[in-house]
Amino acid sequence: MIQRMSTLLLRTLRDAPADAETASHRLLVRAGYVRRTSAGVWSWLPLGKQVLDNVTRIVREEMEAIGGQEVQLPALVPREVYEATGRADEYGDLLFQVTDRKGARHVLGPTHEEAFTLLVRDVVASYRDLPVIVYQIQTKYRDEARPRSGVLRGREFQMKDAYSFDTTEEGLDTAYRLHRAAYQRIMARLGLDHRIVAAVSGAMGGSASEEFLAPAAAGEDTFADCPACGYAANTEAVSFTAAVPAADAPGPTAELETPGTATVGELTARAGVPASAVLKNLLVKVDGQITAVGVPGDREVDLGKLAEHLAPAAVEMVTAEDFAARPDLVRGYVGPQGLDVPYLADPRVAPGTSWTTGANRPGWHAVNVVCGRDFAVDRYLDAVVVEPGDPCPRCGAGLRTGRAVEVGHIFKLGRRYTDVFDADVLGADGRPVRPLMGCYGIGLSRAVAVIAEQTADDRGLCWPAEVAPADVHVVAAGRGAAEGLADDAATALHRAGLRVLLDDRAGLSAGVRFADAELIGVPAIVVAGRRAAERVVELRDRRTGEREEIPLHEALARLAPGAGAGSAEAAAGKEGSAESVVGSR
Ligand code: ATP
Ligand code: MG
Repeated sequence: MIQRMSTLLLRTLRDAPADAETASHRLLVRAGYVRRTSAGVWSWLPLGKQVLDNVTRIVREEMEAIGGQEVQLPALVPREVYEATGRADEYGDLLFQVTDRKGARHVLGPTHEEAFTLLVRDVVASYRDLPVIVYQIQTKYRDEARPRSGVLRGREFQMKDAYSFDTTEEGLDTAYRLHRAAYQRIMARLGLDHRIVAAVSGAMGGSASEEFLAPAAAGEDTFADCPACGYAANTEAVSFTAAVPAADAPGPTAELETPGTATVGELTARAGVPASAVLKNLLVKVDGQITAVGVPGDREVDLGKLAEHLAPAAVEMVTAEDFAARPDLVRGYVGPQGLDVPYLADPRVAPGTSWTTGANRPGWHAVNVVCGRDFAVDRYLDAVVVEPGDPCPRCGAGLRTGRAVEVGHIFKLGRRYTDVFDADVLGADGRPVRPLMGCYGIGLSRAVAVIAEQTADDRGLCWPAEVAPADVHVVAAGRGAAEGLADDAATALHRAGLRVLLDDRAGLSAGVRFADAELIGVPAIVVAGRRAAERVVELRDRRTGEREEIPLHEALARLAPGAGAGSAEAAAGKEGSAESVVGSR
């Protein structure tokens, strides 16, 4: 196909939208791939649609390769289906809801575990019909609170969601491993640098869950990985387990007057106590009950992780009224010794460790407060923000951390959904068996943005070959002979089997065309200009920026070596006559 820019629905922009915070958002809009319709809702223009289709094709091919069967379920799902599994509440405001003319309520599906379970329950009667892997490529809806970052986080977006159904644990293992391997092939073909990390199973339940994270500054996830042993996890799933050395023979507890030191920073500055020796106590309400959480003073509590540990209990911060009702809780000077609330602590607050902490009276701290001697911990949980250098839970070496975007998520769900819907099939022994499920999602529209994030440079987009909207971008830098040669080049490249984007727009300077070619990011650029009369073109590599002036036939042989002696040579043979190439079109 030759796409002529003179007729293509495309408008490149010099300036990025004012609210665009990420590189992919700025560039995909500027290069004319997507246009915003409303908050978090996007239209895909021809170039963008081609990239999205290329991503989709790769995902589809790899799903077919593991025996996935493509189906299509409705986006519109009766609300009661999500009520049955409790996910109507779990998703809450994230759900887009629709009421029909008869008053029946529907959800625009954010993901389709329920609908697939019901479908398989309907169709599959016997264990003989399992295992099965079904998937769809579909538009999903989530009323995201902050739909920023362009198509990276849309309220309407494209997802491939797959579901496996098996009668045995081994079967589920196999389906999970097949998907994991397929996702690795997909990431490689998409040209995405990625990490497979352990994820929290969360309220979904289930036994195993991993995310495919693509490192990128725009990412909203953080992951930790270990350079020594290869351990990798979403920081929400990192659990600290290493032993902490106890203090040797700490002296008796003593109180210390420390006025105006309600924060760790003030205490450190005024009393010279290192933050790591301070036991900081955060008060929260767990299902309404005031609870203290003790962590070392140099660490921050990760409220998400804390909530994850305590789920399904609701975790809230304490308020000024709560303090007013409990004069024994002295704001800024709370210590666990003699405290009359449940006490949760970080594993670093290990038995035998000695701390400086609040003395439970205003303006006073206590030193040599020893865990196990002076206070007890009701429950240990790791709820601090992971920091670079923290010990790897597997081998103890220092962890690294980084930001990333979640591109895919694979999940062993077990029987959570088949239990809710009694989705039994007939077993080999004539008794009913309840299938085990896995679910496997990948964000297709998000993948487009993530590829852009990872590959773009200061000149624009820079697509890997398999996802690019064209193989080669032909630019006429000048009129007359340059235009003729550009046209010949486009035709010959097209005949050699390449997808060609031809800049034949009228009345634009060569400079504008070059800048647009770099912005659009097709891997190879062929410029017909200065030496057009000699039928010499400039071949540019978009990624490396390398340029070379070579005869058109050589450029053809380089760009389409697969076309081999056949078409490329034939084109080369004819290249003395522009008419013969164009004429045989
Ligand atoms: P996130 O944590 O980023 O909100 P999630 O964990 O809720 O994502 P899943 O339910 O695991 O997402 O969905 C499967 C995949 O769908 C994700 O891995 C991601 O690639 C994609 N996805 C999820 N939400 C969005 C969105 N709002 N816009 C684009 N893609 C999305
Ligand atoms: Mg996820």
